[in-house]
Amino acid sequence: MAYEVVIGLEVHAQLLTESKMFCGCGTKFGAAPNTQTCPVCLGLPGVLPVINRKAVEFAIRTGLALNCTVAPMNRFARKNYFYPDLPKGYQISQYELPICEHGWLEIGQNGTSKRVRIRRAHLEEDAGKNLHTGIAGASHVDLNRAGTPLLEIVTEPDLRSPDEAVAYLKKLRDMLVSLEVCDGNMEEGSLRCEPNLSLRAVGAKDFGTKVELKNINSFKFVKAAMEYEIKRQTKVLDEGGKIMQETRLWDQDKGETVVMRSKEEANDYRYFPDPDLVPLQITTEMVEEARKSLPELSEAKHKRFKEKYGLPDYDTGVLTASKALADYYESCVTLFPHPKTVSNWVTGAVLHQLNVNNAGTEELAGPETPVTPDRLVSLLKMVDNGEVSGPIAKAVLEEMFNTGKSAAEIIKAKGLVQVSDEGALEKIIDEVMAKNPQQVAQYRSGKEAVFGFFVGQVMKESGGKANPAKVNELLKRKLAG
Ligand SMILES: [Zn+2]
Repeated sequence: MAYEVVIGLEVHAQLLTESKMFCGCGTKFGAAPNTQTCPVCLGLPGVLPVINRKAVEFAIRTGLALNCTVAPMNRFARKNYFYPDLPKGYQISQYELPICEHGWLEIGQNGTSKRVRIRRAHLEEDAGKNLHTGIAGASHVDLNRAGTPLLEIVTEPDLRSPDEAVAYLKKLRDMLVSLEVCDGNMEEGSLRCEPNLSLRAVGAKDFGTKVELKNINSFKFVKAAMEYEIKRQTKVLDEGGKIMQETRLWDQDKGETVVMRSKEEANDYRYFPDPDLVPLQITTEMVEEARKSLPELSEAKHKRFKEKYGLPDYDTGVLTASKALADYYESCVTLFPHPKTVSNWVTGAVLHQLNVNNAGTEELAGPETPVTPDRLVSLLKMVDNGEVSGPIAKAVLEEMFNTGKSAAEIIKAKGLVQVSDEGALEKIIDEVMAKNPQQVAQYRSGKEAVFGFFVGQVMKESGGKANPAKVNELLKRKLAG
């Protein structure tokens, strides 16, 4: 039987506020355990929470960027459960009145774009962390994270493949980073993803039973977990079994998902409005203020890149998919106003080097980047004025990424300067022709296809350093006899 995959995603984004959601404690990652705590986030009796204004502003900004309606009145609720990392015995979240609702995010480009509907985005606080690394099997609790502001962004079940889900996650992550509301650091848990996934017969209207996958912190693992679930559920259904509604965890070592809890064990959170917090009113002024603070988002940038730089859809799509890459490109074009040439290098060799080094595009913006716009442009200028050939320049770029040296240093040290001197090139051509009399005869009897063979030989003999345009010109002349 053929099945259709149905995926919905919940993403928890940690907001980049300096203080926590309901108290003044800091939110920096990596501080010594329990040093960023106070009576409020420790859940001591008699304290009162105060809403972090910045977190609310960040939520509104994100909601607007996701085309959501911002609710003029929304309310915090208590989500009750017991766990050692939750000292209050409840988490303050939003339930029936979230701050943002009914939006969408567009994924893909060039005719294959698709709108993924956003059901809601709500504010909540994070829990602490249990550390099971104590001596003699003891566990410890670190409450530094308790009370950190989160925005939970929930989609409708609109995604139809793991690839689509990952495309959505990447787009969302990049948007959050460019909005400057979240650092997008998945390894440090600033962005966590929980997909829910079900299968249904192709053409069926009703959804199948869904399985939720808990807290996954890399695009790679999210994809692997979803792919595993599709296989597992297909097998169960093909064998006539039933999918159980349950929450599963991804076990990276085993490469499989394992049951965490079933529906029967699911918590009844007994949500109710938090009596310590008055309903949060969002004024029109607050929304307009947030709207003014929005940076240029990728759709608008896509359009601008096409118009301003005259780039084709493919180039603009790649460049504007990441703010860091778009900024990098624009810095380069300012220094070297050849939009298409720069685009070819940035979307080609530069991205390739990032991939090889397992680095993200934001690496290009960092102060330690080995290939700053300045440095890339100095290499491109050398190609432009014939000092170095294109293929060699690519090897130089690789070396620049690996060693942090400048193009000029590498080219000089390795003697890679392009050979354009006619006398030197003619000498190589003469040698190649002398070694291959048969091919020379073939060419002269009209078999022009062997021309490529000669170009290849000359380039090889020159160690790739010959100026290809010059080689072509001289070869044509010499072979003509
Ligand atoms: Zn605190």
